[in-house]
Amino acid sequence: MSKTTQYYQEISAKMRPNTQAFIAGAFCGSADGATFESINPATGEVIAKVTHCGSQDVDLAVKAARRSFDAGTWSRAAPEKRKEVLIKLANLVRENQEELAVLESMDSGKTITDCLHEIGNEVATFFQWYAELADKTFGKVAPTDASALALIVNEPVGVIGLVLPWNFPLLMAAWKIAPALAAGCSVVVKPAEQTPLSAIKLAELAIEAGVPEGVLNIVPGLGETTGQAIGLHDDIDVVSFTGSNDVGRMFMRYSGDSNLKSIGLEMGGKSPFIVLEDADINDDLIEHAAMAAFWNGGQNCSANMRQLIAAPLVDTFVERLCERVKKFKVGNPLDPDTDIGSMVTLEHKKTVMGYIEKGQKEGAKMIMGGNVDAADCFIEPTVFTNMTPDMSIARDEIFGPVLGIIAIKDMDEALSIACDTEYGLHATVFTQNLDKALHMARSLPCGTVSINGFCEGDVKTPFGGYKQSGSLARDNGVEALAQYSQTKTIWINTP
Ligand code: NDP
Repeated sequence: MSKTTQYYQEISAKMRPNTQAFIAGAFCGSADGATFESINPATGEVIAKVTHCGSQDVDLAVKAARRSFDAGTWSRAAPEKRKEVLIKLANLVRENQEELAVLESMDSGKTITDCLHEIGNEVATFFQWYAELADKTFGKVAPTDASALALIVNEPVGVIGLVLPWNFPLLMAAWKIAPALAAGCSVVVKPAEQTPLSAIKLAELAIEAGVPEGVLNIVPGLGETTGQAIGLHDDIDVVSFTGSNDVGRMFMRYSGDSNLKSIGLEMGGKSPFIVLEDADINDDLIEHAAMAAFWNGGQNCSANMRQLIAAPLVDTFVERLCERVKKFKVGNPLDPDTDIGSMVTLEHKKTVMGYIEKGQKEGAKMIMGGNVDAADCFIEPTVFTNMTPDMSIARDEIFGPVLGIIAIKDMDEALSIACDTEYGLHATVFTQNLDKALHMARSLPCGTVSINGFCEGDVKTPFGGYKQSGSLARDNGVEALAQYSQTKTIWINTP
């Protein structure tokens, strides 16, 4: 039987979330007692006061991580052992998915339906999949003559700083923690200040699963304090970051100003959704167009917010898209029928509204949405037509439910507009012509191109950005292990 809003609200009302940092295997407050408020953006209520880790706390976490790494309790454990623990963690996530999902929904304004899917299916799958990979990742033997044996082995890098965004809080944690732990590293995790609670709960489950002391540390706090302390720490070997380009740049600088740690970056996007003239504007295409833009309220780095539609198809496309988008239910995130919850903060909502105003001033035509109540964090899905590639709503990552449509004359023009951006995270192309599909897939400078459907891939496929959407590092797939492993050559003379 499907569960009701009341059911989730009752869980929410009883929720007493753990709000402490998790350092060296124990929950604790910060050295100076500082806290920050975690607010439910859908109601404006303060959920809890959360420990705010300063540089002293980050240093304790890094020391604990280094001790555990050097002791080898995890880093040199048999891979089967890491597998067993991570599979237990995957199962515990499944068992606790309702509590985690309600917590996440309250903290972020995401819908309960999305939270249940992301946590019960995807987060658990990430831990399970990397667990299984732990004892199936082999080194290599290089070809040599008979006088030598040359081994190429993978070793865990060491202590990893993971700095997370708020849009998919526990999922992004799993994208990074699962491969880092499977590789044998110890981690210090900073969740986003808007959404720290599910990561703290994950630490409780990690203890139960048997993750050894010091291997997983959670340091909630603000970017300019906790995040910066991670970036500048001289004993962190790698930082893997997901968030804005501005902060990504800061991490590159932190690295140069400290120990030259490697920086893995997954950042913004302004991804195109391209419909060529031969495509069929059917229900499937429209569903993909609507979800590509408005899933998670558009708060998604690979949201397809520039929809480039062959000119003869524009009228039909716009009419059918608007019919579909009108059916999205915006509102209480704990209602299982809600499709779009609240923006993550009032401040973020104001930024998004600023773009809606700019779009109108710049001459785009707002054909639906845009109505808001200034006091709350909700925004109706908003659609602009007559957008031109030079407008700020066509160029900037808005990170909210604001879609713009551009009419294109042919494939070459679609490609040229699609490529005219500093970003390169994702693109979708609809066409019935296989040659055109492959030409577009090969020509678009993006980490992921999906054909005849919006899709970011899954746990098995690498995810990351070309151009300024990312560094060479990739999350997901076997490729993610490369962020957390280093390669050693062992050359053995065999005279
Ligand atoms: P940020 O890039 O500011 O935040 C991402 C992470 O970096 C958070 O943990 C944040 O901490 C931390 N951080 C912030 N400032 C610093 C700093 N000076 N030093 C070290 N770490 C820092 O993203 P925002 O939350 O501010 O969102 C702004 C925009 O970024 C969005 O509108 C969107 O365009 C983009 N974004 C992209 C995401 C993606 O998936 N690629 C995800 C989130 C945002 P804290 O939470 O305390 O700020």
